[in-house]
This record gives sequence, structure tokens and C-alpha cells, in this order.
Amino acid sequence: MSVVRIPLFDTGAVVRDLRPELERRISAVVESGRFILGPEVQAFEREFAAYLGVAHVVGVANGTDAITIALLAMGIGPGDDVLVPSFTFYASAEAIPHTGARPVFCDIDPETFCVTRETIERALTPATKAIIPVHLFGTPAPVDEITALAHERGIKVLEDSAQAPGASLHGRKTGAIGDAATFSFFPSKNLFCLGDGGAIATDDQDLATKARLLRHHGSADKSTYRAIGFNSRLDELQAAALRVVLAQLDDLNARRRAMAAAYEAAGLGRLVELPTAPEGAEPVHHLYVTRAESPDLLAERLERAGIGTRSYYRTPVHRQPPMAPYAHGAELPGTEAAAATNLALPMGPTLGEEAARAVVAALAGA
Ligand SMILES: *Cc1c(COP(=O)(O)O)cnc(C)c1O
Repeated sequence: MSVVRIPLFDTGAVVRDLRPELERRISAVVESGRFILGPEVQAFEREFAAYLGVAHVVGVANGTDAITIALLAMGIGPGDDVLVPSFTFYASAEAIPHTGARPVFCDIDPETFCVTRETIERALTPATKAIIPVHLFGTPAPVDEITALAHERGIKVLEDSAQAPGASLHGRKTGAIGDAATFSFFPSKNLFCLGDGGAIATDDQDLATKARLLRHHGSADKSTYRAIGFNSRLDELQAAALRVVLAQLDDLNARRRAMAAAYEAAGLGRLVELPTAPEGAEPVHHLYVTRAESPDLLAERLERAGIGTRSYYRTPVHRQPPMAPYAHGAELPGTEAAAATNLALPMGPTLGEEAARAVVAALAGA
């Protein structure tokens, strides 16, 4: 029996590599005595906007609030429908009812795990006011085509980019293509902090101003209140950590791509269906999700070899009980196929190419 122990991902190892710089910058914040909406948040917002190539970034408390606040800032509310895939993390849809709008579930292409122009078009309703394409597992959804379709109909596009910071589509960064985008900096994401954090990115000045108000109780001056808002701020300690990780993001993503290339070079494609991306897409492999007819059998074999795996979203969002009011009649064959066949294999910037070869050997039963 093999002695290798390879986790599905290893957040702790990435943090340990950056620890001296993280500790230096965090100590400086502690020393400054300034913890909420100060210079670190401002600097991170400016640096991340420049990285993405957008005019505005607004830091918030987490990626779920980022979606709710961005939708509200777009003017979405009661009576509106918002299209969202069912094959995604629950929060992509959970954020919608908080605005008063109704989630409408759309299907995905089971080969890319992402929505397409066609799956969106099929799900459109007369009340659709916004679409949330999700760049799932770090693979860009074709948001350029989707935005063209949406804008013909006066519909807004909010990219859920939580899993894809640094990915690109036809040379443009995901998160800079729709009307706005949201990010999560949960510790397991490609761009992470040391707790909860999130952000909204947009070129739209009005949307950014509204989002800035909403994250801070609807107030710009702490004495007059212009909206029923939230307490949802990115804090100074998390922003300081994010500036350290952002500076390394391209390198961290390159190491993920190298691991994906190592899987291919080791012959993984002969054993399972490899992840595929839409034409013109440069993925960042947040997770490395393959497809197989019997993923549970393969998972057991890898488990015995000390290798972590997971099948994501086995019960897709539209079949989760709280979503029942929004899910009647939803027929999503691509979603059901993806839920039944997906198998995530170890992926991360610290796992390395040797780990990829060991996973392929274990899968092959060697
Ligand atoms: C992580 C994630 C979110 C939610 O982010 P939190 O920071 O955990 O609130 C939303 N959508 C997707 C696709 C995610 O992966």
C-alpha cells in the first residue's frame, strides 16, 4: 500500500509559505490601531482594480454579501427574476432572495461545468433583470457572449468570480467583462485572506457608489443614512493579508496550471475525462474536477492510497429544500449529469507535479 498522503487541497501550506510577509504586514496594522475602512482597504481596492483592469473595487465582508449588495446596487428587487446556475456553491443562489428577487435556475454544459449562452437563453423569463454566470472551479464561463445576449434585452450581468481570480477569457480578466463581478476571499480560494472577505468589481461609478453605501449602513458620513444597508466591510487586517497574496496571485495560479499540465502529461486523460474550458478561456484551476462514470469507485481507490477526492454539489442547489419555492418545473439534465459524474482530484499551488504523477498512478491501480 502506498504511503503518500495527498490532500484535495492544502490551504495551510500556502499560508505557511507567505507567513513572514503576512506577519510583518499584520503587525503593522495592529501597531497602527486602525482596523476598519482605513488605508489597507483603500490600497487593496486600488491594487485589485488595477490587476483586474476595472475602475472600482469595493471590499465587503464575504463573497455572499458581495452578491446581495451588487444586485441591490444594480437596482434588483421584488418582482425581478435573477438567473443562476444550480450547479454551483449554494451562496450564488442564496444571495438572491435577500434582495426580494426570485432565483431562476438555469442549466450548465456538463463538460465545462459552466453556463452557456444557450442554457441562459432557454431559462430567460419576462421578469429576468439579471444573470449570475459562475466561473466554476476556476473555469471562465463565456460571459462575453452572455453579456451581449443580456444587453440586447436590458438585462444586467453579475459574474460570480469567487473561484476564478486571475482567469481570463479572450485576453480579458474574468470579473472585468460583465456589468459587475463578485469575489470571495475565503481561505481556500485562489485569492484568499485569513478569515472572511469579499469584493465587488465594476466599471460603473454609480453601482460602485451604491455598493460603498450599502456595505456601511447606507451612510457615507456616519451621520446621515440614505438606505437600509448592511454592516459588511472588509477589515484592515484582511486587506493587509490580501495585498500580500494578490502580489503572488499570478505565481500561485501558474503553479496550479503546472499541476494541471502534469496530470495531462502523466496520462490522466486515459483514465477519466479531463476538465475542459470554453474556447478562448484561460482557467486558474481553483479545483481540478474530472468526470467519470463511477466516480465513487475511483474515489475509494484513491482514498485507500491516501489521496483526497470529493464529488461536488451532488445535490445541486435547486434540489436543496430551502430552494423548493423557486425550483418547481426546473429540468436541468446537464446539472444532473455533472452532479452524478464529477470527481475533484488534488489541486493547489503547493502540491506539485510529483503529487499529480502519484495520483495518476494510484488511479491506474499501479
Ligand atoms: C465561495 C463562494 C461564494 C461565497 O463566498 P463566501 O465568501 O464564502 O461568502 C459564492 N460563490 C461561489 C461560486 C463560491 O465559490
